[in-house]
Amino acid sequence: MSAEASAQPTPPDADAGPELRAALLDTMRAMGGAGLNVGSAGNASVRLPSPACMLITPSGLPAERCRPEDMAVVGADGNWRGLFAPSSEWQLHRDIYAAFPDAGAILHAHAPFATALACQRLDIPPFHYMIARFGGSTVRCARYATFGTQALSDAAVAALHQRSACLLANHGMVVFGRELQHALALAIEFETLCEQYWRTLQLGPPVLLSTEEMAEVIERFRWYGKPRG
Ligand SMILES: [Zn+2]
Repeated sequence: MSAEASAQPTPPDADAGPELRAALLDTMRAMGGAGLNVGSAGNASVRLPSPACMLITPSGLPAERCRPEDMAVVGADGNWRGLFAPSSEWQLHRDIYAAFPDAGAILHAHAPFATALACQRLDIPPFHYMIARFGGSTVRCARYATFGTQALSDAAVAALHQRSACLLANHGMVVFGRELQHALALAIEFETLCEQYWRTLQLGPPVLLSTEEMAEVIERFRWYGKPRG
């Protein structure tokens, strides 16, 4: 597989409709509105049926200047079609879709509190029961690798094992959900948890929930499908 998206766009044999393009752009703008992204940092994608892989936000364009037609269609082989090249993190998105069949949409952001924890290379422990929303009793921090590389993608896929969120060391966060709205809600929840962990660390090491306590929470989430507060 090539390390970069092809310089000349080669269209995958599928396209995305205008509604999905608009929904992806709305999600990217909502990430900014929620304080997850500033400027052209961060990106978002939504899974497309094979042979296309995804519709993804373009490289280097701030969300406020993007139009729905600027979203790029990318195939699993990295070939793409669009007015602008796909986000430089397209490999990260592609490999998450390949590794996790329940990923329908992926958001990547340099959200302030998640990034602060990522710069400390901290796994987030079970300091709060809502950590279980992301699949287990911790949220991992992926090992450091340069942005836009296969090494970063490999590190993120490993950190996402049985999880729907991870930190990227000295970089930011990745969250996936069933579809765009779900992924956005999870990303906002995750940044909130990162802020809460950051704040509690100011007071000293938090009291962590036990393995048994987290197992009970995970079981309740499995039954109810969503937290009941
Ligand atoms: Zn990034």
